[in-house]
Amino acid sequence: MNIHEYQGKQLLNQYGVAVPRGFVAFTPDEAAEAAKKLGSKILVVKAQIHAGGRGKAGGVKIAQSPEQVRAIADELLGRVLVTHQTGPEGKEIGRLWIEEGSEIDKEYYLGMVLDRNTSKVSVIASSEGGMEIEEVAAKSPEKIFHVTVDPLTGLTAFQARQIAFAIHIPHLLINKAVKFMLGLYQVFVEKDCSIAEINPLVVTKGGDVLALDAKLNFDDNALYRHKDVTALRDLAEEDEKEIEASKYGLNYIALDGNIGCMVNGAGLAMATMDIIKSYHGDPANFLDVGGGASKEKVEAAFRLILSDANVKGILVNIFGGIMKCDVIAEGIVAATKSVSLHVPLVVRLEGTNVARGREILRQSGLAITPANSMADAAEKIVTLVKQAAGGVA
Ligand code: ADP
Ligand code: MG
Repeated sequence: MNIHEYQGKQLLNQYGVAVPRGFVAFTPDEAAEAAKKLGSKILVVKAQIHAGGRGKAGGVKIAQSPEQVRAIADELLGRVLVTHQTGPEGKEIGRLWIEEGSEIDKEYYLGMVLDRNTSKVSVIASSEGGMEIEEVAAKSPEKIFHVTVDPLTGLTAFQARQIAFAIHIPHLLINKAVKFMLGLYQVFVEKDCSIAEINPLVVTKGGDVLALDAKLNFDDNALYRHKDVTALRDLAEEDEKEIEASKYGLNYIALDGNIGCMVNGAGLAMATMDIIKSYHGDPANFLDVGGGASKEKVEAAFRLILSDANVKGILVNIFGGIMKCDVIAEGIVAATKSVSLHVPLVVRLEGTNVARGREILRQSGLAITPANSMADAAEKIVTLVKQAAGGVA
């Protein structure tokens, strides 16, 4: 799960990580009010969307008075911001963060991420802040410094000092930088983050070490033990179909293709997407209905797939182990009857109660193309979708 920059900053603040003072605003009036309360000479108006690259895209603006803040807020709120991270459709700005402008002396990069190779938290730091770390890694990898944290000791003050020296934090500010890093590491571990990225971390002319940006991602599987974090979820930032899927406990991820997939088991779902690709088709989604799906769940899954306007065909690939093929078949029939099926449907069923499942599909009178194997199923759906589009298979 992702949260907004300002929510990240508020969380960091609770852990003693220094951030600029600020207030969230949903309207131009609230923005002007926030600017008055801050009372600083330089004010920064920042679009809150779940994507980076806002600065270059015009989503971070400097103002000198509450009136200017109001005018900028008026212009930004409700606008769709397109950054290199949002995709071409962009994201609508629903809220702003109004904060104190900092007199930046230098920008740095500090990130923490769970490294799957070592199964440990890796701290990544660089003197080249403000630009994307991927770009630094490509152009000047020698300017990136890594430290692996032993989970038993946690990030030690010694390691934090080593990082601070390596990225050339001014000597007088080393202690502040150490406190900053230890606080960030504590948030990372206590809140089960998967990523914590501060870009830029800045040293100000006044001698402060501050997080000017904050990107925190959380491990979805640990959210059950962080009610406070879960409360920060902004549904407006998420794909509607993914929200609907989470209501039914379906693992659904929207993709760009046109072949809807309904599969049981994450591994089989991945393999199904691969085999569609190998037959030169494009999956419209990843969807794992899980092991013990009910008829209602299958129906919800089916409706979800059909609600995607890009879907030009559906491939159902079920191996009935715990999941019974007849239950799947009933779900498919119920769903296709309630949501008129207007695209080709290929079904490959195998496993428990397969004969009964196939019989239900046959008797339904629906135009379902049965398949004998995964390869057969993929080939059939790709061909049918191309035919429907009037192309050559
Ligand atoms: P993004 O990464 O989405 O572009 P940032 O929060 O990193 O957004 O802001 C972009 C740039 O704007 C920063 O690198 C910094 O130079 C400037 N900036 C952001 N917040 C402030 C602030 N409070 N005071 C001064 N400059 C700021
Ligand atoms: Mg940034």
